[in-house]
Amino acid sequence: MIYLRSFKLTDEAKGVLLNMKINVGILIIAAGLMAAGCSGDGRDYSHIVPEAVGAVNVENQSGSTTVMIDRVERTEAEWREILTQEQYKVLREEGTERPFSSKYNDNKREGVYHCAGCGQPLFRSDEKFDSGSGWPSFWAPYSEHSVDLREDSKFFMRRIEVHCKRCEGHLGHVFDDGPAPTGLRFCINGIALTFKEKK
Ligand SMILES: [Zn+2]
Repeated sequence: MIYLRSFKLTDEAKGVLLNMKINVGILIIAAGLMAAGCSGDGRDYSHIVPEAVGAVNVENQSGSTTVMIDRVERTEAEWREILTQEQYKVLREEGTERPFSSKYNDNKREGVYHCAGCGQPLFRSDEKFDSGSGWPSFWAPYSEHSVDLREDSKFFMRRIEVHCKRCEGHLGHVFDDGPAPTGLRFCINGIALTFKEKK
């Protein structure tokens, strides 16, 4: 996680880094416990809850590295100006659009679905499937940097909310009854998305 190869460190600096590693370890364990606590409906969601927000570990052939996600932060007034009333209700107030109301529900065109709030790529047409739920559904996000998952216990139900990792806009929920290969169903409000067709 932390590369020391190219640096000469004093013993004091090594001590600080060791402390950081221990703290990161504790945080990850805490995240694991929180994830275990999410399974109030009897199902275990720990496999789909990321361990960190902001800093994300990326594994590749040369090892692992930490990537920081750039954030988009706006005031409530700015969001109201940028978004339509319906988009604001979903993205900033965690509302839900009426089922079968989205023009993207039956969209079979090839392209990428972006966040209507900040433009970040969120889902690909390749991972879209017809869930019959009435909301655009995907079995995987565009990348692990696209979305952030949080527990939602509104209406006496425990569900996992899906948020845009860049602007924190609410997108929908993720369930574990989706198709292979992930078994996940990202149930997304179409109004929180803008579709860019592949040319
Ligand atoms: Zn966004």
